[in-house]
Amino acid sequence: MTSTSPTIYEQSVPGRRAIRWPEPIGPVPLEDHPGLLRTRPAALPELSELDVVRHFTGLSRRNVSVDTHFYPLGSCTMKYNPRAGEQAASLPGFSNLHPLWPQLRHGGQLTQGALQLLYELERMLSEICGMAEFTLQPLAGAHGELTGIMLIAAYHRDRGNRKTHIIVPDAAHGTNPASAALGGYDVVSIPSRRDFHMDVDRLLAAIRPDTAGVMLTCPDTLGAFPIRIREIAAAVHAVDGLLYYDGANLNALLGRVKPGELGFDVCHVNLHKTFSTPHGGGGPGAGPVGVVERLRPYLPISRVRARGDGTFFLDYDAPKSIGYIAPFYGNFAVLVRAYAYLRLLGRQGLRATSTAAVLNANYVQERLRPHLDAVNPGRCMHECVFSGRRLTAMGLHTLDLAKALIDRGVHPPTVYFPIHVPEAIMIEPTETESPETLDRFCDAVIECLELARRDPEALRLAPVTTPVGRLDEVAAARRMDLVAPE
Ligand SMILES: *Cc1c(COP(=O)(O)O)cnc(C)c1O
Repeated sequence: MTSTSPTIYEQSVPGRRAIRWPEPIGPVPLEDHPGLLRTRPAALPELSELDVVRHFTGLSRRNVSVDTHFYPLGSCTMKYNPRAGEQAASLPGFSNLHPLWPQLRHGGQLTQGALQLLYELERMLSEICGMAEFTLQPLAGAHGELTGIMLIAAYHRDRGNRKTHIIVPDAAHGTNPASAALGGYDVVSIPSRRDFHMDVDRLLAAIRPDTAGVMLTCPDTLGAFPIRIREIAAAVHAVDGLLYYDGANLNALLGRVKPGELGFDVCHVNLHKTFSTPHGGGGPGAGPVGVVERLRPYLPISRVRARGDGTFFLDYDAPKSIGYIAPFYGNFAVLVRAYAYLRLLGRQGLRATSTAAVLNANYVQERLRPHLDAVNPGRCMHECVFSGRRLTAMGLHTLDLAKALIDRGVHPPTVYFPIHVPEAIMIEPTETESPETLDRFCDAVIECLELARRDPEALRLAPVTTPVGRLDEVAAARRMDLVAPE
């Protein structure tokens, strides 16, 4: 069924080399360290340089990425990463920096440009989110959430508040309850209503004097805007709790709505989603965290500050700070890309981004509405969610549709999330896709659904154009085979 190329180990020929090292000059005193000597050679593949280049170039061409395919993963905002951001990040003044260089050396300005960039990026994010200050340190969205929860905990400790739990709607990204639990709180999960939407009444009723905070995704994971947000904020604040904004979906609000003005106290944004820095394959990402005035004292050290004379310095004088949450200053090269993106787009550009992101999602929602069950009866925000439960009548599942899309040149959308929607399909087209691409995608989905009615077996066999066909996913997770042959 599949045509896999040999692994790099299978291509190995004993003695074949890419590089021949010169003989060492003088003796290498290995005999001084007998315990360090290998008893047999390392089991590394032996190949020529050309073998290696062809092998990895071949694999890279099988990769699916935003640069090669439409990639509508819901909630992940797989937008195009402009090359200008890459160019900025590779400028030698940034890429050759070392984090231990002095802030001002011999009156020179070796790191001043980098500090200024961090300072300005932090100010821009603060303005976009309506927050007093941001930290750029967190290395991912989930890391930002944990930072936010640590800030909430520091606030309550400092005020002598006795707080036990964080409230999280059940539709939230799994990182929300995980972060709240890691931060030392019990998690109170609020079940969604029967129509899958957030149960605001139930959430309000769950807020008690010992509620530390509420974590909300906004727009929520169904791509809906929680319209009673101010009511929720008032109820949390009435018990001196804090409202946390999971800003992974900020793409829908960019330049239009500031979380701070809705009543949120802490927020994280995903630079690798909304602000176009590359993601996938595990990173590197960046999940900066913004706070309102009263949480400022707890922000991680160090802070970048501006002096009156136009120079910048790192400030470690923060007795109430939660300390470091990452080495040095975060993923600096990712921050440079996000900065470049913001400067390229400007105020008008950011507004245009959210307009097009929401328009594109609604276009897809309405084209697919006759074919799948949309969970939003009306307009959606930046993503649309369907239930694929009609497929079950044909003995098929959402997974079969996802796999069939791969054969049609599309990375599958998010499936089976949010978990409370049966056979969920979540599509986030982003603003960077053209109407032609969206039409090709919708045509492909509709074609697969027609095929499902005619020939369900064909869907069950998909994908057939990939080097590896349908995997036994349980076995792939439970019985991993990652060891190189001896
Ligand atoms: C992606 C995402 C996160 C987590 O961000 P990571 O950078 O993957 O850790 C949290 N919440 C929502 C809604 C997300 O989409």
